[in-house]
Order: sequence, then C-alpha cells, then structure tokens
Amino acid sequence: MKVLILGSGLLGVTTAYELGKRGFQVTVLERNHESARETSFANGGQLSYSHAEPWASPSVIPKLPKWIGRDDAPLVFKFRADWQMIRWGVKFLRNCTTLRANVNCVNMLRLGLYSRKRMEEIRKDSGISFDFGNSGILHIYSTDADFDHAKKHLTFQEKFGCNQKLLSKDEVYRLEPTLTNSSRTVVGGIHAHEDETGDPYLFCNALAKVATERYGVEFKYGVTINDIKVENKTVVAVSTSEGDMTADGYVMAMGSYSAPILRNIGIDVPIYPMKGYSITINANDGCPNVSLTDGTHKIVYSRLGNRLRVAGTAEFAGHDQSLNEKRIGNIITAAKELFPKADWSQTIDKWACIRPSTPDGPPIIGNTPYRNLFLNTGHGTLGWTQAAGSAAIVSDAIEGKPPGIIVQGLTLERYVK
Ligand SMILES: Cc1cc2nc3c(=O)[nH]c(=O)nc-3n(C[C@H](O)[C@H](O)[C@H](O)COP(=O)(O)OP(=O)(O)OC[C@H]3O[C@@H](n4cnc5c(N)ncnc54)[C@H](O)[C@@H]3O)c2cc1C
Repeated sequence: MKVLILGSGLLGVTTAYELGKRGFQVTVLERNHESARETSFANGGQLSYSHAEPWASPSVIPKLPKWIGRDDAPLVFKFRADWQMIRWGVKFLRNCTTLRANVNCVNMLRLGLYSRKRMEEIRKDSGISFDFGNSGILHIYSTDADFDHAKKHLTFQEKFGCNQKLLSKDEVYRLEPTLTNSSRTVVGGIHAHEDETGDPYLFCNALAKVATERYGVEFKYGVTINDIKVENKTVVAVSTSEGDMTADGYVMAMGSYSAPILRNIGIDVPIYPMKGYSITINANDGCPNVSLTDGTHKIVYSRLGNRLRVAGTAEFAGHDQSLNEKRIGNIITAAKELFPKADWSQTIDKWACIRPSTPDGPPIIGNTPYRNLFLNTGHGTLGWTQAAGSAAIVSDAIEGKPPGIIVQGLTLERYVK
C-alpha cells in the first residue's frame, strides 16, 4: 500500500519511519529543503511524558487578567479581529473546568506514557544519535501557591501510573547545584525522573535517513502542498507545486498549516498557531545538567550535548513566524536570572515558531470522514514528547488494527457533534 505523508516535522518523520518499518511504500512531501525546519527545529528539547497538564485548566483563569496586554507574560494575548482565534479562545475557556482539564490531562498522560515506550523502541531499533539525555526533568517553583498546585497535580497523575518525586528546596539544589548561583526563590520541586531530552532536528533528520536507507521511504523536499482533492468521501490526489500526486492513503502532518487545507474539504479542526521562542547557547559549568521547567515562568531549559536550549512564551500572532526581540529578551532575562554563571557574552542563537495548538490540549490522531485520509496533527506544546506514540496510533489506524492504547479524546471524534 502506497502512503503519502504531508509534512516532514516530528510527526511526519516518525509516521514515515513507523509505516516504512511496517512494510508500507511511503513518500513524504515537504516544502523545505530538509526535515524539521519549522516547529520541530529548535523546540525546548523536552520529552516530558509526565507533563500532561493542559494549558486549559482552572488554575489559568485567575492568571489570565494579569497576563492580558503584558509583553512578558507566559501567555501573550492581544485582541485581533481573527475569527479562528476567537473561536479557539472560546473553546479554550470552555475547557478550563476541573472536569474537562482532568479528562484532557488523563488522555495526554496516556499518550505520553505510551510515547515513552515507543520512543525507547525507536532509539534502540534505529540506533540514531540526537543529543539524547535521560536525567529526567526537574520542575521548580518560586511561589507556595504554584508548588501546592503542582503537588496536588502529582498526586492526581500518580493514580494513572505516572511516577514523579517530590523534592524539598534542599533536594532541588542537590539535584541541580547550578541553581544555587541564582538569587531566584525556589520553594520546592518535582523530579519527573523518567522523562528525557533530545534535539528534535537531529532526531528527525537522522531518523529520516534510517527510514530511507532501511525501509525505502522517499522524502521529496521543496514540494509545496496546495490542496487535497476528494471524490465520494475518498482522497484522490494532493495538488502540489510539482503537480498532482496520488497514493492509497494520506497522512496530514502539516502542523499549524493542517487546519486551512483540511477546512477546504470540510474537516474543521480547531488548530490555532501559538507562537513560541527559544535561544541556544554553548554550555559551560554555569549551565544546568538536568533539564528544567520553571513552573512559575513557564520556561524550559534543556542540556543538549554541549548546548543549552531555553524555550518559552505562548503568543497569539496568527501564522506570523517572525522573531520579536522583546519576547526573546524576556526569555534571556529569565535565563540570566536563573543561571547567571552561564556564558551570556557569546552570540545567542534565537528562534521563533508556531505550535499547532488545540484548545483542549490533546492532538488529533487517526481516522477522518474520508476513508483514506488520516490525521497526525495538533500536538501544540507536546509534539516532541508525543511523536513516537502518535506515529504508532496513526499507523494502526491505517492498517485497520486496534491501537496500542485507548484513543478516546485523542481523535477527531471529540469535535464532531
Ligand atoms: C518554543 C517551542 C518550544 C517547544 N518545546 C517543546 C518541548 O520541549 N517538548 C515538546 O514535546 N514539544 C515542544 N514544542 C512543541 C513541538 O515542537 C511541536 O508540537 C512539534 O514540533 C509539532 O510538529 P509537527 O510535525 O506537527 O509540525 P512541524 O514541525 O511544523 O511540521 C510540519 C511540516 O509541514 C510542512 N508544511 C506545512 N505546510 C506545508 C505545505 N503547504 N506544503 C508542504 N509542506 C508543508 C512544514 O514545513 C513542516 O516541516 C515546542 C514548540 C515551540 C514553538
């Protein structure tokens, strides 16, 4: 069976690898000159399987009025006359109840824990290098209120098989001694010791190479997808800059650009771009060894080999991917405060990109009303974490096999009334 995968970011590449391994004849279409040049290029690097709390939760509601209009807020919102944004925002607010947040959290956690297993298989099977680290992720908190909330959440997730360690302030400093250089208050932490890190760009391109050499997957770069052609609830071709291309099955993995093309064929997915930023510097002794999440400022830090990656901010700016120096400046200021002995005199690599975010949090994976069109998109803040599990789920759907986990809440069905 011939499958065309639309998009070669984390979700496109892992799906191509998985399907290639299962014996499918796979071609990947990508507008850039290599894989992972857009949202999967320089993300936070965290494989945060244990981090399943969606942005849409009751805890975010009291913070929203303080964030609105502020340039240094973790979530930067400026009103725009953009119908898709407004619609997304209404759905987001509807998901901020305790019940909805818990359901979404459990669904994302299930996918996260499954992805950890699948990622281990991919690593062992492919043998690729991507600055992988397995020291876990340390979440630190600066206020008692944030720490108390995190403790409650840890207890909740424990019931669903997620193991994390609660740390006192002293234990936080013992685990990551470079934090003692900072004047920032740390009241306590949580060590998600089974979480991991890695460079998504290195991962995608190394995995694409193995998929090509071992399973004959073909990556066609420099091809822009313009539309999907359908007849009688079947996709008959994708129209591209190189002409129409056909296959037996199609997988939509175009990240933030999935929604407009899907809307043309009547599939209304509420994916809205949420811009984020990262910086990368060469690491020295003043940089952390363990990956960190600053839970109060919503900024993540990952040691990727001899580099330190710092990422954060969620900004509603449509599909604009341009780099706003002010927002990058906020990330640098926060990072300098936490790690003052890192080398801040060097040239800093700066990056901005848009997360394909759903209002409830989980991605959209699997079947569509078109019998041969499948989705692997909408992964928002956790596409690196959830890539391996999502690839297996969409591949099972294509093969008509039962998925490896319960997929309720992870498919298109939840939006269809
Ligand atoms: C600042 C930041 C930090 C993040 N940190 C983390 C983290 O620490 N951990 C984590 O799990 N996740 C993180 N994420 C989220 C993660 O990076 C995304 O969820 C993931 O990259 C999405 O992958 P994707 O394959 O869906 O999209 P993409 O990587 O954007 O891939 C889609 C591909 O489709 C191609 N495409 C689009 N339109 C067309 C077209 N018309 N024709 C041809 N090709 C097209 C694009 O070029 C692109 O290569 C972060 C994101 C950001 C922005």
